[in-house]
Amino acid sequence: ADIQTDVVIIGSGGAGLAAAIEAHDAGKEVIVLEKMPMVGGNTLRATGGLNAAGTSVQAELGIEDSVEVHYEDTMTGGYDMNNPELVQIFTENASDAVEWLLELGGDFNDVGRLGGSTNNRSHRPSGGAAVGPELVRTLRAAVEARDIEIMIETTAIEILSEDGKIGGVVAMNKDGQEFTVAASAVILATGGFGANSTMLVEWDSALEGFGTTNQPGATGDGITMAAAIGAGLVDMEEIQTHPTAVPSNGSMITEAVRGNGAILINKDGQRFVNELATRDVVSEAMLAQEGEIGLLFFGDDIRESLSAIEGYIKQGIVTEGSSIEELAGKLGIDAETLQGTVDTYNGLVDSGVDAEFGRDDMPRGIEEGNVYVIEVGPAVHHTMGGVRINGSAQVLNADGEVIQGLFAAGEAVGGIHGGNRLGGNALADIIVFGRVAGQSAADL
Ligand code: ADP
Repeated sequence: ADIQTDVVIIGSGGAGLAAAIEAHDAGKEVIVLEKMPMVGGNTLRATGGLNAAGTSVQAELGIEDSVEVHYEDTMTGGYDMNNPELVQIFTENASDAVEWLLELGGDFNDVGRLGGSTNNRSHRPSGGAAVGPELVRTLRAAVEARDIEIMIETTAIEILSEDGKIGGVVAMNKDGQEFTVAASAVILATGGFGANSTMLVEWDSALEGFGTTNQPGATGDGITMAAAIGAGLVDMEEIQTHPTAVPSNGSMITEAVRGNGAILINKDGQRFVNELATRDVVSEAMLAQEGEIGLLFFGDDIRESLSAIEGYIKQGIVTEGSSIEELAGKLGIDAETLQGTVDTYNGLVDSGVDAEFGRDDMPRGIEEGNVYVIEVGPAVHHTMGGVRINGSAQVLNADGEVIQGLFAAGEAVGGIHGGNRLGGNALADIIVFGRVAGQSAADL
């Protein structure tokens, strides 16, 4: 072999870095391979939080929550298709994962609530900073403090296995040179396949032509490599779309725009859905509209309520009018229809009941003044399926037998989120099972 180590980890997102720290702290020599020029994967893009029940941060803020309720929320959110054993391990260990990150020096001292959660349990940095960069910063600092090697622009292309035993991986550097890394333990932390359009369509043909919110490295390599040596796959057709992505560049518009009062209209200038229904419902309704898009429509007071909107304006993705009539003209929508939609909606806000679509939270109507539209459409966001693992993060074959020496964690794994992942559950899951994978690999 060209390189020899104890544990080789493929992928440097949250799962891979957490695994690297644990395997190192258990006394093993670790090498992390990352195919992209940067560390962090999709984890870096995360904007939600880490869901955990029973943390010191919740206690400090006087929030009551329990592992049982987190478990129930996760199962219900996943349409009860989740693997109960994995969900049990996930929810039981999530608070410990948050405490571990706090000890590593991270700031996860604010707690909010994301869709599908009964209690406030989504841990994020105080002061409104995005959670993904803070999570990657925290883990990276710990990896660097331990002198763990991360080889960037290095792609794992094959898992070596002989007589049912893992022997390491074949990798390729950016100049196309192949080399082997010999190791008795391999941890797959390669993320999902949300940026691999061929693989997406293979598992769900309805996703033909969809954009993605994923980083370009999310191509399912780990799943494909593991399947090639007999790993079992679960829930591969369970793919989550995010309803408000920008079709031209795949960037995401935060749900807070709708939360703060924006409505969705179609090209006829009419509302067509409860804007705050779950991601799958809003996505589906949008696909039934002309052009398979929606227009996120809001006024000045919503713009003022959310600093993110200034960023969207800078990106040039917001169409603006000084009046409804002017905006309608720019969009080619009949001005009277749009005015009618606004008047009707404002009436519903005043009455407190959305008799049209059943939206239960309407914080404000559309005031007179400047009005804005962002064209949005559903994009692939998260792939719930992946390789099959047991509670020790060991990869299982199709018959449920352990593949000795092969471990997996993070979005590369299937079964934890069932048919629909709740916001905030992925970041917590990747840390919990990343740690388990690192510890199990060290125990080998
Ligand atoms: P998670 O934290 O759930 O594992 P992320 O998407 O954050 O998921 O991280 C996965 C990482 O794995 C990404 O940085 C991605 O570029 C990397 N990766 C994917 N395939 C390979 C591969 N074949 N070789 C090396 N790194 C890979």
